Amino acid sequence: MAFDSDLQRQLIRTVCERVIAHAEELVALDQAISDGDHGINMKRGCEAVLADLDKLAAMPFGEAMKAAGMALVMKVGGASGPLYGSLLMSFGKAMPAEPTHESVAAAFATAVDAVKARGKADAGQKTMLDVLVPVLEALRSEAEDLSGRIRATASASAEATVPMKATRGRASFLGERSIGHMDPGARSSELMVQAVMDVLEAQKK
Ligand code: ADP
Ligand code: MG
Repeated sequence: MAFDSDLQRQLIRTVCERVIAHAEELVALDQAISDGDHGINMKRGCEAVLADLDKLAAMPFGEAMKAAGMALVMKVGGASGPLYGSLLMSFGKAMPAEPTHESVAAAFATAVDAVKARGKADAGQKTMLDVLVPVLEALRSEAEDLSGRIRATASASAEATVPMKATRGRASFLGERSIGHMDPGARSSELMVQAVMDVLEAQKK
């Protein structure tokens, strides 16, 4: 897997544009179980990353992920900024110069662990980790159709947060009333995973 600067630019741009395009949906999901700012927070962070796109595209991939993570920490209010910031900074730090399937999976495992540590959370609590953890498992697998597997896992696991009761984050204040709605962070994670797969699949063709 080679991360040339064009692919890097496309990955960053597509992920950010996808999140921005779904900002209203993320607001609506967050309104249902919390304070309604997730779409606004994520949009602000993604706009900050896009403003640095030329600079980010020219950096080594790991450095670009670290810088994008820093931008999210600085610009995104709310819980999701430091959490997604930790994910990207740890991912960037753990990324070797010549990434392979195994090393990307290992770097993503380190990144998901950083989110768990920062959020004092794990899968099963109706958060972004309910998508990130299963996606990591899919990424680690030797499935023949790896991208199809990752995509299906991301959408099924976001959907699976609907019946969950939130026990972390602001949504946990709602207790039982958080049941019946998709977690906004799970949805934003799904959107980012699908955007990454779109770019990687298009590149293979
Ligand atoms: P805030 O909750 O501060 O308003 P956002 O609305 O931007 O921040 O983000 C909310 C999302 O962040 C939730 O939907 C959830 O997925 C994720 N989240 C919140 N707290 C945690 C946590 N402790 N661990 C993991 N993810 C969390
Ligand atoms: Mg919120």
